[in-house]
Amino acid sequence: MTISEQMLAGPRLGVPHGGQLVDRRLDAEAAAGLGAGRWPSVVLTGAEAADLRALATGAYSPLVGFMGAKEHESVTESMRLPDGTLWPIPVCLGIPDGVGVAAGRLALRDARGGLVGVVEVAEVFERDRLAEAELVYGTTDPDHPGVARVLGSPARAVAGPVQALVAPLPGPVGSRALTPAQTRAAFAERGWASVVGFQTRNPVHRAHEYLMKCALEMVDGLLLHPLVGPTKEGDVPAEVRMRAYEAVLGYFPPARVLLAALVAPMRYAGPREAVLHALVRKNYGCTHFIVGRDHAGVGSYYGTFQAQELIASLPAEDLGIIPLRFDNAFYCRRCLSMATGKTCPHPDGEHVALSGTQVRAMLAAGQLPPPEFSRAEVAELLIDASRS
Ligand SMILES: [Zn+2]
Repeated sequence: MTISEQMLAGPRLGVPHGGQLVDRRLDAEAAAGLGAGRWPSVVLTGAEAADLRALATGAYSPLVGFMGAKEHESVTESMRLPDGTLWPIPVCLGIPDGVGVAAGRLALRDARGGLVGVVEVAEVFERDRLAEAELVYGTTDPDHPGVARVLGSPARAVAGPVQALVAPLPGPVGSRALTPAQTRAAFAERGWASVVGFQTRNPVHRAHEYLMKCALEMVDGLLLHPLVGPTKEGDVPAEVRMRAYEAVLGYFPPARVLLAALVAPMRYAGPREAVLHALVRKNYGCTHFIVGRDHAGVGSYYGTFQAQELIASLPAEDLGIIPLRFDNAFYCRRCLSMATGKTCPHPDGEHVALSGTQVRAMLAAGQLPPPEFSRAEVAELLIDASRS
């Protein structure tokens, strides 16, 4: 089935997950009038603050707040909210010992004590963190960075609808942190009926550029949507990556691409997170989503195609966004072009391929990777950053 046939035959595309875009933003004036100083409060980690922002802007629609016991169990065990809506990963808020939370409101604060949001407390419950690790991440190994965060978070969790102050974020990365409503408006302004989303937490090399261009041959627009929330140690900092993405934009027609930043924590949950990444991009207005090899994986916890297999197994009407599954791309010296195993018959020796470790070593030594692997503009930025 071609993509246009899928679009005619399949579910309505471009509709937010659950039907409506959630908006739980709180303006500063209303926040000041709440009298939040009288409530118990909790200081959010960077990852929790990023989840709060995603909840308030509708990136996590239809969620309106942190999950309770029933939702946690249902999502963990069956990838569904209690009403049957597809949702792959719990979004919870752990409460440290010593914070007394009863019915009423809980103030959410940043590390400097500033009010960033409010939870209308519906429930306080004990979260089964081991079950979450085992079923959502497929492992209880504390060396897995996502599992470490789950197991390191307090067992006691607070649930309920949130409201949050969604202030503009500083710097060039912050100015690209558009809300789902903003990207939807941008797509409409450009007249894009079909938009493919590309998730990344890494610099974009030729291989990723090729996948995006393959997709862009079939749809109206591309949302290059790097995740800029908390990632693990060793990942390239968001400011550096953003400059590298801007350099790559020079190889796309400006009218067909939008570069925006997604503020959300990286969970490294592999297959389940691939589904979350797709649903979030659906909320941002995308109709298609690129799923690569070992999408959202880390180390060797997940099989190469496990994420693609999981997303392909889900009913199209539940997903509501078309996953585009791609194999790894490379430059082939015999084809004289970028290709994948689906399009090139030549042996590996003909392919310009470098491992992540090899690329990092070259950049650290100030060497440019071959132009078939990386655009020089991108590599030069990464060399500068690795030396500063
Ligand atoms: Zn070839």
